[in-house]
Amino acid sequence: MSKTLFFLLSLLIAVMHCRATRRNNEEVQTETLNLKAKHFNPQVPPLRTLSSSKRFEGSSEFVKLKYHMGPVLSSPINIYLIWYGKWPQSQKLLIKDFLLSISSTAAPSPSVADWWRTVSLYTDQTGANISRSVSIAGEYADLRYSHGTHLTRLSVQEVIASAVQAKPFPVDHRNGIYLILTSEDVTMEEFCRAVCGFHYFTFPSKVGYTLPYAWVGNSGKQCPEVCAYPFAVPGYMGGGGPGHLAPPNADVGVDGMVSVIGHELAELSSNPLVNAWYAGEDPTAPTEIGDLCEGLYGTGGGGGYIGSVMKDGRGRTFNLNGRNGRKFLVQWIWSPVLKACAGPNALD
Ligand SMILES: [Zn+2]
Repeated sequence: MSKTLFFLLSLLIAVMHCRATRRNNEEVQTETLNLKAKHFNPQVPPLRTLSSSKRFEGSSEFVKLKYHMGPVLSSPINIYLIWYGKWPQSQKLLIKDFLLSISSTAAPSPSVADWWRTVSLYTDQTGANISRSVSIAGEYADLRYSHGTHLTRLSVQEVIASAVQAKPFPVDHRNGIYLILTSEDVTMEEFCRAVCGFHYFTFPSKVGYTLPYAWVGNSGKQCPEVCAYPFAVPGYMGGGGPGHLAPPNADVGVDGMVSVIGHELAELSSNPLVNAWYAGEDPTAPTEIGDLCEGLYGTGGGGGYIGSVMKDGRGRTFNLNGRNGRKFLVQWIWSPVLKACAGPNALD
């Protein structure tokens, strides 16, 4: 009896040891193969957002991105974060690591900082480039849903006004932008149907100042197949079917938000007062530098392919490295130099 037990125990220990060793090997592999992590170009069901008509895969002479004489964010960018609703610390850290990676030189290439380089190529009529310095200058937690669990484009400005009145941070006219992030239980006008995020500027009548802001919501429970694409796929494909990719930080909603935050920050910086860089004749529905590359994450994307991205030893999909060893999957941005969508993980 005890012999059998001993045998079983030692067998169990041996198995556990074996698994631990294998996990260690995986980690080693992940680290050493980080940059040469397996490239693959997954085919996924098409992204079905209303803005998909704006998408432009690859490059073209026909994309008429124009400069409309307004300013870009050329001074160091100070982000004031407003966490609306319930935000677990782990999710906050993930988003902050992404934001702080924009100016971090520590991460190996292709990095988030390399990705922002494309954004920084845009200039305004003074000749100044978009700043490569992005920091988090202040944070405010709106834990009690000051304006309810359903927000609109206008009430989101009241959320900013409440935050400003609470005085958690000074009003920063020179360098400040607000980034409002809503938790997965908060709905937003047009969220999931037409938008995953948006940017605009505050009205003096609402907030007391004119400052650029962006809103992005956690779509994890509401519409991951739209706003956390390609970590979730449209329902008609039976969610989890072909095209379902493992998110780099094991959080479908927040890993999806990271790409949307990148998209909105790029557009906010190049078109902060909606009078700088955009395509199309209608300034109420501008096609901006992120819109042109939505759903595109690497070389060879388009026609149902997201482009060549990387997969680490644990099968997690990514295309950028960030600080603290983080990995992210962030869409490409339209380059004013290449006149095409561009990213640092390009194969050519
Ligand atoms: Zn956009």
